[in-house]
Amino acid sequence: MLNIILFGPPGSGKGTQAENLVEKYNLKHISTGDLLREEKAKETPLGLEAKKFMDQGLLVPDEVVIGMISSKLDEQADKVKGFIFDGFPRTVDQAEALDKLLDFKEITIAQVLALNVSEEELVKRILNRGKTSGRADDMDEATIRQRVTEYENKTAPVADYYGKQNKLIRIPGEGSIELTFNLLVDKISTIK
Ligand code: AMP
Repeated sequence: MLNIILFGPPGSGKGTQAENLVEKYNLKHISTGDLLREEKAKETPLGLEAKKFMDQGLLVPDEVVIGMISSKLDEQADKVKGFIFDGFPRTVDQAEALDKLLDFKEITIAQVLALNVSEEELVKRILNRGKTSGRADDMDEATIRQRVTEYENKTAPVADYYGKQNKLIRIPGEGSIELTFNLLVDKISTIK
């Protein structure tokens, strides 16, 4: 299996690049943001709980997200060539939980590809996306900055977690979609 984590702040291009990589490598895209938005739209108990946090630009509690991922992995691990995780793990506790879930299935993460984009560029990109995404959390600058602050406080430490496992690769993410895609493919092509 080829399992990759696309890492980076909100607006760094993880979703776009994940879609392109899925097409090239035939992998299963797991975006916790997309999964949570589906639950929210269906007004499930999980979705209603998540909404309280998402609308404020805060992270959803770990146990909610980990439970959701665990059932996705159970459903699909035997059926796919690999996973691209996008927007997960977002805390060190989530990263530890993912390692345990994967160990249990004798699966490993090959690389964590971290996209680097400055805060001003992130805010600009997300406000622009908000014109068409229909996402309330993409339309309000204060909520966007709150999401970036959550990233810096709770998610950025996850990079060190994977750095210690020698899996972290940093990629400049401010160029064109195509340029960034080519940089990602170059790195993925080194996986044995
Ligand atoms: P995203 O689409 O990845 O930008 O996620 C949108 C929102 O969903 C985030 O601001 C969080 O409120 C929530 N979310 C998505 N993934 C996670 C996660 N792994 N852990 C906690 N909250 C998450």
